[in-house]
Amino acid sequence: MTRSISILGATGSIGDSTLDLIRRNREHWQVVALTANCSAEKLARLAVEFGAQVAVVSEESCLEELRVHLAGTQIEAAGGREALCDAAARPVDITVAAIVGCAGLGPVMRAIEQGRTVALANKEALVSAGDVMMEAVRRHGTTLLPMDSEHNAIFQCLEGNRIEDVRSITLTASGGPFRTRSLAELEAATPAQAVAHPNWDMGAKISVDSATMMNKGLEFIEAWHLFPVGLERLRIVVHPQSVIHSMVEYRDGSTLAQLGPSDMRVPIASCLAYPARMDTPCKPLDLAAIGELTFFAPDEERFPATRLAREAAEAGGGAPAVLNAANEVAVAAFLASQIKFTQIAALSAEVLEKFGPDAPACLDDVLSVDAEARARAKELLLVA
Ligand code: NAD
Ligand code: MG
Repeated sequence: MTRSISILGATGSIGDSTLDLIRRNREHWQVVALTANCSAEKLARLAVEFGAQVAVVSEESCLEELRVHLAGTQIEAAGGREALCDAAARPVDITVAAIVGCAGLGPVMRAIEQGRTVALANKEALVSAGDVMMEAVRRHGTTLLPMDSEHNAIFQCLEGNRIEDVRSITLTASGGPFRTRSLAELEAATPAQAVAHPNWDMGAKISVDSATMMNKGLEFIEAWHLFPVGLERLRIVVHPQSVIHSMVEYRDGSTLAQLGPSDMRVPIASCLAYPARMDTPCKPLDLAAIGELTFFAPDEERFPATRLAREAAEAGGGAPAVLNAANEVAVAAFLASQIKFTQIAALSAEVLEKFGPDAPACLDDVLSVDAEARARAKELLLVA
């Protein structure tokens, strides 16, 4: 049996891992749409290799280059935000949402509207849209599969159980590359140090988010929407080995955990094959070689991002979208060496404090909150 698939953000780290699995099972997959921001050459190469129907660059200025690389093939080339959303709306069995940032929200909503299956890696889209996205999932009868490793772990630990029986959900966090650094060392952290993650090989933005712990903050909000147990039942524990990907505790005292190598192909495979299982080339878990699993409470003095996320979730309304947008601007500024590492959370906190919009009621509301929060964050950058 073959299944059709589109990958939004096909040229990134999640895109690479997804296509690696598809490459090993080519006869089972029909690739419909592959998209990228501007990496026209890589996108064209992938589109040719996988026989995609359409390749889309969201930056319209990159379309000409894409056309050149696809000349002489049957593959449609398209460019611009509208084309990206149209590609996301083409019917497929499964859409992998792997764009980074709130930029992925419009296309992911279009994929959700198909009422099929969406595997979500793009956590910023869910953090920003929250109830607007979850409401669309219900309305269209869409199956939303969490691809983020922690949420995929929780999803697996919940299978066959009742959400009413959950006492708590614990997200594990590696602690990132600066887990043991002092505040003074954090002040001086460079972009190169921040993107060098000890356990995971990921895109630049999420790597910085891991270093600030904002990744765990965003994941906390993501979990709150995906698994309706209430904020007070959600916990975070630092677990530097990244072997346990998250856990669910039940009312009888049983805790179920999902373990695996730190390789995104494991949660990706779980989504691609759901509800069945498929082979992956991932190294099997060797617990005797790992030896020890350790756990620590998060330190919100050095890493305030998880506290900010909890506060944004408690505040509700548009606060999570504001936090996400401010963080995206701050991370980009840090990567461009415009601000210090510790200013990422400080800037996000300041925008969050001064801008508390009402709950967005529709996609356009979310996008305008996002735009306003970005504008405010950029103003603060000018004085930073
Ligand atoms: P990445 O930077 O490696 O890739 C991002 C992809 O999105 C690329 O294909 C890029 O061309 C595209 N893109 C970037 N900006 C865009 C824009 N403005 N419009 C349209 N397309 C755009 O990122 P990644 O590490 O693959 O992460 C993708 C998403 O998955 C993020 O939301 C991240 O938080 C999440 N995630 C990643 C990992 C991981 O291991 N990499 C793990 C869990 C969750
Ligand atoms: Mg994760």
